[in-house]
Amino acid sequence: MQTTTAEKDWVNILFLMLTPIIGVFGTAWYTIAHGFEWWMLGLGVVMYFLVGLSITAGYHRLFSHRTYEASRAVEFFFAVFGALAAQNSILWWSASHRVHHRFVDRDWDPYNIQRGFWWAHIFWIFYKNPDSGDFSNSKDLLKNPVVMWQHRWHYVIMVVVGFGLPALVGAFFGDWVAGLLWGGFVRLVFVHQSTFFVNSLAHKAGAPTFDANVSARDNWAVALVTLGEGYHSFHHRFPGDFRNGIRWYQWDPSKWFIRGLQAAGQAWSLRRVPAPSIEQARMEAAVLGLEPRLAVVPRDRAEEIRQRINAAREEFARAIELWRRQAEERADGFSTAWKETRREAKRALAEARRDWKRACVMLSAVPAHA
Ligand SMILES: [Zn+2]
Ligand SMILES: [Zn+2]
Repeated sequence: MQTTTAEKDWVNILFLMLTPIIGVFGTAWYTIAHGFEWWMLGLGVVMYFLVGLSITAGYHRLFSHRTYEASRAVEFFFAVFGALAAQNSILWWSASHRVHHRFVDRDWDPYNIQRGFWWAHIFWIFYKNPDSGDFSNSKDLLKNPVVMWQHRWHYVIMVVVGFGLPALVGAFFGDWVAGLLWGGFVRLVFVHQSTFFVNSLAHKAGAPTFDANVSARDNWAVALVTLGEGYHSFHHRFPGDFRNGIRWYQWDPSKWFIRGLQAAGQAWSLRRVPAPSIEQARMEAAVLGLEPRLAVVPRDRAEEIRQRINAAREEFARAIELWRRQAEERADGFSTAWKETRREAKRALAEARRDWKRACVMLSAVPAHA
């Protein structure tokens, strides 16, 4: 069954065609005719971050996935600046995003990559979706007063604040039209396209590092233009983690922003997946990729490699269990026994890593044409 009817959504089509024309050609023409000043670019960049982060850290990681808790003030900030992205309301966005995760790569997935790059990127928005307005998977959001307030007013906020605010800033610098173009239109086009890249490119280009069964990919280049959302394989495997780029050096400004909110006392209960579970997922994804090679390895050799992989599996399971126990003991707060459990968990994890590495070495020692 296809979720989309053939009925086109002309409001969306016109909006998504006209805004880039005004944003790119209109701004270029106006700037050539009236001159460029640095505040214009500054306004565009600041607005891009305010609005973009409201989508990634707000719409996505806070409201859709509940990866942390935040104060009402933060929720309100995301509600207002997120509306400026012209991506519908928090409620609508989150409901369809939850469907995307649940049915990824299948017909119900609203931006199913199997229907092609351009479908997942933008064409899906050109058609009316009969499931739109079904919020049965978002009962938690229906109870949130900020979300419901924004659902009612997001179009008004988008127009009044989204174009009014940059025009006002522009007027302050003596050119309200330039303000409107750079802070309103240019910014809108960039936020749109960067969000769309998560649905298209992040399901197409890169490595399926954490789950080889779905189309989601890890790609640092995509992360660079999407405020950190390019580590999409990790995200689809562990959507409850507030991070997408888990290493400290991976470009994920959304995760840093959430940490900043925490430092300011405005966010708490940041959820992260335990290290052994992450590494286990990484191994299982790699094992799936190695299967074709294992099939051509001499039988006794393949058996040995499989035994190593199974040993790693057992150690991973033990590390995960110990990690869970450590967290429980720590939460109890009665003793320092958790420290010993944690050390044990780390030892089990190191053991698992060793077994896995040995399996890889054994496999690479086998000639590819064997
Ligand atoms: Zn996705
Ligand atoms: Zn998601």
